[in-house]
Amino acid sequence: MLTDSDFDRQHLWHPYTSTIAPLPCYEVEEAHGAEIILRDGRRLIDGMSSWWCVIHGYSHPLLVDAAKRQIEKMSHVMFGGLTHSPAIELGRLLLEILPPSMQHIFYADSGSVATEVAMKMAVQAQDDPQRTDFATIRSGYHGDTWNAMSVCDPVTGMHGAFGNALPRRYFADAPQCGFHDEWDPADFEPMRRLVEEHSHSLAAVILEPIVQGAGGMRFYHPQYLRELRSLCDRHGILLIFDEIATGFGRTGRLFACQHAGVEPDIMLIGKALTGGFMTFAAVATSAEVARRISESSAGCMMHGPTFMGNPLACAVALASTRLLLDSPWQKRVMEIEQIMSRRLEVARSWPGVEDVRVLGGIGVIQLAEPVDLARFQKRCVEEGVWIRPFGKNAYIMPPYMAVTDEQLHRLCDVLLLLIREMTPNASSHAQKER
Ligand SMILES: *Cc1c(COP(=O)(O)O)cnc(C)c1O
Repeated sequence: MLTDSDFDRQHLWHPYTSTIAPLPCYEVEEAHGAEIILRDGRRLIDGMSSWWCVIHGYSHPLLVDAAKRQIEKMSHVMFGGLTHSPAIELGRLLLEILPPSMQHIFYADSGSVATEVAMKMAVQAQDDPQRTDFATIRSGYHGDTWNAMSVCDPVTGMHGAFGNALPRRYFADAPQCGFHDEWDPADFEPMRRLVEEHSHSLAAVILEPIVQGAGGMRFYHPQYLRELRSLCDRHGILLIFDEIATGFGRTGRLFACQHAGVEPDIMLIGKALTGGFMTFAAVATSAEVARRISESSAGCMMHGPTFMGNPLACAVALASTRLLLDSPWQKRVMEIEQIMSRRLEVARSWPGVEDVRVLGGIGVIQLAEPVDLARFQKRCVEEGVWIRPFGKNAYIMPPYMAVTDEQLHRLCDVLLLLIREMTPNASSHAQKER
């Protein structure tokens, strides 16, 4: 019989892996707070929040309790023709905290599905049948389903693998003006030109506000969003904000668009919506978008997944969001931002390091060369932390409501240590500085 780890290697797909030459996987037995506990008993401080979502830490007792109480009543019931208190209570709470123009909520199964729903909504909301195109910015990430892939960065995303099978979208160069830089109006020109050129065929512009996540871990200037809002308004084009990664406090605001004071027509949330307890997402729209969809030829929104509005997910999302709002989350995220800024800054002058940037609970060291992932992760586990770089970006994104200062310092120590170990010449340079 195969050992568990051999079975896993030989028969289970993991995200973006080869079945012929898979990278090693580490078996997790349990996870509590900011710690992941491996089957062999080793404990790892979590620096990833399991890809943006586990904001309260793992197995938070209030979320476990909310899930148990809901399971006792019903874990699922169809949402067609039926409704329930977890969906209603969650909806009420979301409308209180989302930008005020957001008035209708569509519950979806995952972030990628939410992207599909939002793009379908944008097309259904058009009176003009010519308006079926989408524009976005390079270096974006919106998920792995078909339409979501089509608006991901065409170079680092999946266009290479799917080529002409993907619908054609319009890409503007990504904003270059950083979050803390002085605004340069030239930064918006590529988007202005693109939208003006295609203004009659565009249904919507879709992008991640302020922070581009899995497409490049980039932070751009809030003025970009203000310019984009007025450009879209001038041309009657809908604006979709994908806040699946940024929502629920990660950037220091509850939603990243609040850095710019700009509201979208359609907004996506997911990931931290359930505190990372389970998959769930939502698409919020303005009253105007909802009305236009409902007055369209179909007469309704043409989407309705089996597990729409799943009561268990709604109950956990409600508990997680209440827990966040009742906590000093903003103070904590700002403290984490300060610690990471102070600690990671030293790497800026190291050879092999291109940039160091920190915003809210996101600390990124961008390297000149892609990281040797297998080697990096092996060393992480030896050092008792969990950090998973992608491409040239080594970053920490801790569960901000669970991580202690001491754990955060340890994450920074190990990140810096491994970058010194793995970038040629960095270690000798670092020694000279001391
Ligand atoms: C993760 C992510 C998605 C996709 O969400 P899934 O739940 O993985 O399908 C979409 N948009 C952004 C910005 C994301 O970070």
